[in-house]
Amino acid sequence: EHVNAESKQSEESLRSPICCIMGHVDAGKTKLLDRIRGTNVQEGEAGGITQQVGATFFPAENIRERAKEINVDIAKLKVPGLLVIDTPGHEAFTNMRSRGSGLCDIAILVVDLMHGLERQTIESLNLLKSRNTDFIVALNKVDRLYGWKTCRNTRFKEALERQAKDVKNEFYMRLNQVITQFKEQGLNTDLYYEGNMRERYNIVPTSAITGEGIPELLWLLLQWSQKTMVEKLTYSDQVQCNVLEVKVVEGLGKTIDVVLVNGVLHEGDQIVVCGNEEPIVTTIRSLLTPHPMKELRVKGTYLHHKEIKAAQFVKITAQGLEHAIAGTSLYVVRPQDDLEGIKEAAMQDVKSVTSRIDKSCEGVCVQASTRGSLEALLDFLKSPEVNIPVRYASVDPVHKKDVIMASLMLEKKKEFAAILAFDVKVTREAQELADELGVKIFTADVIYHLSNMFKAGTGNLEEEKKEEAAREAVFPCVLKILADNIFNKKNPIILGVDVLAGIVKVGTPICVPQKGFIDIGRIASIEISEGKSVDLAKKGQQVTIKIVGTNPEEQKKIYGRHFKHDDELVSHISRRSIDMLKAYYLWPVKLDMNHILLPKKQLPPVVMT
Ligand code: GDP
Repeated sequence: EHVNAESKQSEESLRSPICCIMGHVDAGKTKLLDRIRGTNVQEGEAGGITQQVGATFFPAENIRERAKEINVDIAKLKVPGLLVIDTPGHEAFTNMRSRGSGLCDIAILVVDLMHGLERQTIESLNLLKSRNTDFIVALNKVDRLYGWKTCRNTRFKEALERQAKDVKNEFYMRLNQVITQFKEQGLNTDLYYEGNMRERYNIVPTSAITGEGIPELLWLLLQWSQKTMVEKLTYSDQVQCNVLEVKVVEGLGKTIDVVLVNGVLHEGDQIVVCGNEEPIVTTIRSLLTPHPMKELRVKGTYLHHKEIKAAQFVKITAQGLEHAIAGTSLYVVRPQDDLEGIKEAAMQDVKSVTSRIDKSCEGVCVQASTRGSLEALLDFLKSPEVNIPVRYASVDPVHKKDVIMASLMLEKKKEFAAILAFDVKVTREAQELADELGVKIFTADVIYHLSNMFKAGTGNLEEEKKEEAAREAVFPCVLKILADNIFNKKNPIILGVDVLAGIVKVGTPICVPQKGFIDIGRIASIEISEGKSVDLAKKGQQVTIKIVGTNPEEQKKIYGRHFKHDDELVSHISRRSIDMLKAYYLWPVKLDMNHILLPKKQLPPVVMT
């Protein structure tokens, strides 16, 4: 079944934009893409977690049809289509780079409205910032708002208008929290229909289940494509191509899935890709794409192409691809090209990652399946909150030689005699040798699970310290006394307060900043309403607190005599508490507890001993 790829392309010399879907696990990336595409893959995946790279090509005709449904005129849209890449974590995104720049043109950053910005959202954001990639925020799961009335596949703006007042209020409250969290990350965001500031990223509230907001999401993608297509999406003959995945396919053997960003690939082209040990020089046997509107993950037959033009997601079959490494560039060799030079360039991709490691230091061994995931893993291990040193890294399954390498640490620092293996096989001989020598091999498919496993495996020192810190750490807060709500004036002091700033937690020592300060005791309980206790309250809440004196001096303090209703109560913070906050909660840069982010300037005054 041969299709002339050229016929599907428009006459214009533009290429299709490439769009990545990113976000925290469970934010709804898979579901959202399903909703856009109209299939249902997510249910078929273990635990619903996307762990495979997939891509969907939306041909222009299809997009035009959909645009009609939502009354958008895209006659001017001259791109051949839209290529959407569904990422497992950030892997595809990190694999999609060439010579330092990102290949993804635009991203959809999916944020769960109920959870706000989460760890992987922030990681995605940093990646997007570092590559200067535009993105649209899909603020997903609006249907989870309490009392939300479903308005299937309706524009969000209209759906919101039909909601009850308290649903609207809750929505705006959550939206504002998310906007504030983005500000914390140095980004201006707003609802896509609010104002028209420059330098601002659009938020589209969506539901991947009931379809609200999906029309606008498509519309914004199209609008963006239209605006940028001329400056950015110009087609060029220079082949720019990236290996996203190396996969065995029944009947085809080892294949590579590539993103062709620019240029043309032909059957029979001589190509060079980066291999485990040496560059692979081979010839393209076949160029395959999934059927339009289907995704590579969905089983089905492929279309064969004589040649294929950018941008496309293509499966290539060829001899000798067994040791190809994902995340590297694919080079086409033309008759006049210098093959040796190209081979060297191809190998440079992995060398540039592993050469950053200090091989003489004490640390663990790290192995990953792709160049991108190795890079992401190394960056992650290096980040201050993780901080695990690495002395050896490779893009390879775990073999005996790796175990021997790791075992060198047994004498020096036993806990580092470990291999962190991300999404790679461990050979049986390697595992046997590791068991014999006492080398630990941690395997996982999700990067942050690895570091947790490593930490759990090498003793719970850090966790214990953190728990201790949680007990010791005093979070800054300022409380305004509500004069009409004084329930007990003396030990225990029970009164209503307005939390003016910070976080008030059970256990917080409270003082009155008056000529020095007067300690009055620790918070024993917090009631949010009649009979309903909570462990902490945040800025803006009104609560009743019970303060119990912890020594005879404190027990003597009386409301009305030692302090009055116009005194503010603040948390008493000690040097030790500040150290704890700094060490474990990144204070004063940010307090990241239960998604509350406090910028430095909002921190209340600190009374310190
Ligand atoms: P991913 O890990 O980001 O790909 O997230 P999934 O698409 O697998 O979604 C995670 C879970 O959230 C699944 O149980 C989905 O059914 C659910 N989910 C995703 N989007 C929505 C949404 O808009 N509304 C609701 N109520 N649930 C959603």
